[in-house]
Amino acid sequence: MDDLAASLASLRDDTDVLIALYDHDDRLRYANRAFRSAFALGDHETPLWPDLMRRNHALGLGTVISVPDFEAWVVSAQSRRGKVKFRAFETDLVDGRWLWMTETVDRNGWMLCIANDITHLRADERTLRQDRDFAVKASQTDELTGVSNRRYMMSKLEEMIRNQTALGSLSGCVCILDIDFFKGINDRYGHQTGDDILLDFARRVHPIVRRHDCFGRIGGEEFMLIFPETTLPEGRKIVDRVLDNIRTARPLAAVPQFFYTCSAGIAVLERGDSARTLYSRADAALYEAKHSGRDRIAVSLR
Ligand code: GH3
Ligand code: MG
Ligand code: MG
Repeated sequence: MDDLAASLASLRDDTDVLIALYDHDDRLRYANRAFRSAFALGDHETPLWPDLMRRNHALGLGTVISVPDFEAWVVSAQSRRGKVKFRAFETDLVDGRWLWMTETVDRNGWMLCIANDITHLRADERTLRQDRDFAVKASQTDELTGVSNRRYMMSKLEEMIRNQTALGSLSGCVCILDIDFFKGINDRYGHQTGDDILLDFARRVHPIVRRHDCFGRIGGEEFMLIFPETTLPEGRKIVDRVLDNIRTARPLAAVPQFFYTCSAGIAVLERGDSARTLYSRADAALYEAKHSGRDRIAVSLR
């Protein structure tokens, strides 16, 4: 190792700055001493991010997560994690430390996390900042399911088109998913069970999509998937898995034979598209999927 590399390596482990690197699957691939100590990680452990959070939460270590439903917290955190090139936020640790955490994501989806201890910095304004962060989060999140809401998905759709146009590569697709005969589920089992099905749907789809995809609820029983830099066959494969998963689920413990299905319309990003034109092609494809029998995928052809 030359001098430069040796100094860097030793400083990375001496510094109190927390440094970590996650790959595109959100698996931890590198963490320095300070990061490993803050998140109670052994020297050679490389967990997936949600597993690390889950373990620490169970043991009362690491990040403070003060919500009643931990899994809902994970879904909501993942709906924002790794979706933008850079973001920064405050986070507090169980040991009382406050961190200023930054996340930088490269084109391959690898994420560099760097965090500084800000426990003694502007502590008096902290509540104000937390309230602001909470309000921003709430404005992007669907309350019932914890996934992204319509407003956030629409801004993500616009962002994908902007980025792809700038890159000149124009690769990506969007999918609209709608639960079949949902009104019948409400009528037969009640509105509360309808809500449970919406939650079940979101919980099943969420782990199937990749970290750089976006998933959100855009209306009553209508959801959207955004696949940036993804070809039609790749996008279709993911949506196929979604439909398979939903079809084979038996989500009502009280009615073991109950199952439900959903239909999907996919549109591929084309030159000259706006969010509105891309969305309406996916919507037209969804209409086609419904009218040709439901529980299927239709693709919009220009
Ligand atoms: P299709 O297969 O053609 O999509 O039929 P559908 O019955 O799913 O579609 P329709 O648009 O006729 O009905 C959607 C229903 O979704 C009507 C509305 O009452 C219900 N709904 C909308 N939002 C919610 C919600 O938040 N919770 C519950 N439980 N029901 C909702
Ligand atoms: Mg429906
Ligand atoms: Mg609908």
